[in-house]
Amino acid sequence: MEYETVIGLEIHSELATRSKMFCSSPNNPEETIPNTNICPVCMGHPGTLPAANMEAVRRVIMVGHALGATIPDSSKFDRKNYFYPDLPKGYQISQYDLPLVEKGLIKISSGKDIRITRVHLEEDTASSVHDKEGNSLVDFNRAGVPLMELVTEPDMRSAQEAREAAEELQLIFQYAGASKARMDKGEMRVEANVSIRPVGTQELGTKVELKNINSFKNVEKAIEFEVERQKALLENGEKVEQQTRGWDDNKQETVMQRIKESAHDYRYFPDPDLPRLEIASIRDELKTQVPELPAAKRKRFKEQFNIDDEAIEIFVRNKELSEFYESAASELKEWLSTEGADSDGAYKLLRNYMLSDMVRALDEAGVIFGDMKMDAENLAELITLITTKKISSRGAKDLLAHMVTNGGDPTEIAKDKDIFQTTDVGALEEAVRVVIAQNEKAVKEYKEGKTNALQFMVGMTMKGMRGKGNPEAIRKILLKELGS
Ligand code: ADP
Ligand code: MG
Repeated sequence: MEYETVIGLEIHSELATRSKMFCSSPNNPEETIPNTNICPVCMGHPGTLPAANMEAVRRVIMVGHALGATIPDSSKFDRKNYFYPDLPKGYQISQYDLPLVEKGLIKISSGKDIRITRVHLEEDTASSVHDKEGNSLVDFNRAGVPLMELVTEPDMRSAQEAREAAEELQLIFQYAGASKARMDKGEMRVEANVSIRPVGTQELGTKVELKNINSFKNVEKAIEFEVERQKALLENGEKVEQQTRGWDDNKQETVMQRIKESAHDYRYFPDPDLPRLEIASIRDELKTQVPELPAAKRKRFKEQFNIDDEAIEIFVRNKELSEFYESAASELKEWLSTEGADSDGAYKLLRNYMLSDMVRALDEAGVIFGDMKMDAENLAELITLITTKKISSRGAKDLLAHMVTNGGDPTEIAKDKDIFQTTDVGALEEAVRVVIAQNEKAVKEYKEGKTNALQFMVGMTMKGMRGKGNPEAIRKILLKELGS
């Protein structure tokens, strides 16, 4: 039997606000001393009252706009009741039937739409720590931190599609300024709901929810493992049981955690301590402030710089690199327009320098991009020197190696280091004659029609001029001297 995979995602992201969701305790994920960022409200003491953090509300609404979603005039908070040591009040304040955001949409690279069911706001739980002696300890620093939960429709059909959707959502959260959404720091947590069904059927199979996935790679691996597990069950005539399973990175498999409760077990009801949230005016105000989103940035980079998709993706995913590229490109454009040179080729050269030569130079110097001394203007000037053939690519590499660790103006450094290509025709002719005199074999081969021999002599002349000769000019002189 052939099966089709069906996946829906639930993604939690911690919002990078200064204070917690319902009190003024600091929201500081970097805090290392346990139980310091706490107060009677987030500890659930009797008689305390929550007050909603409107900055968190605004961030979720901004994500809603970024998803092209529906945002209602008003919204409300509900209590989700359950007992656990990491939940001091015995309930979590969340949103049930009136979330802040409904019905959004994202596109993955194939152009396929993934529908977003909803995005709501809730509070995070405390973190449990299990020590070596077998004690379980609770750190309440995280209790009450604003947490955004996004739910997708079951629209993904492969582990790869699910990974892509999760990566695109991470970018959207970052671009919208809602969350840093780093998976390795637990700021974004992806849960995948996975089922399979016979190809050609419509009815959804029983789903298994996968938790504890700490990287995009593992999102893919966990789903792939789970699909095979479910197939094997069905092939054996067994049923898939609705469960929550965790990803075990050591065993590289999903392991049973619990049989899932249904919604009514939580006895949701409106939180009587919190007034209804009137959000129409915030929604309309934020609608005018939506920043450029990843999809728009990809399109703009293509139109503006005409570079390849692989490079664009690197820039879209790396803010610092892309800002550097953009500011270097705008300098380049200015200089090249005064020189009457083609900026299209220069944008590609800039792309190559940033994504390979510069990376290599940084690597060799043992310097990270953030500590690099070369600024965007310096690099743009270097690219201009190459484009206008004032320096050779060999010379450019020497300059680059110097600039990443020392900074500085490439024109000045090229003067100091005597890197500029010579415009002295007499010197070029002299160097060519020396090469012809010393390479009889190559000259003979060239006359017998071997074009490689000419290229060899160009190289020898360049070497003789210590990289300062322009290869095109040398080639012309060689042809003339060789009498062709
Ligand atoms: P629950 O009530 O168990 O929380 P929901 O209907 O709220 O289930 O869906 C939770 C997530 O699971 C959503 O992302 C949804 O798209 C996905 N989902 C629901 N049913 C299935 C299924 N049969 N197979 C895969 N994903 C599913
Ligand atoms: Mg649900």
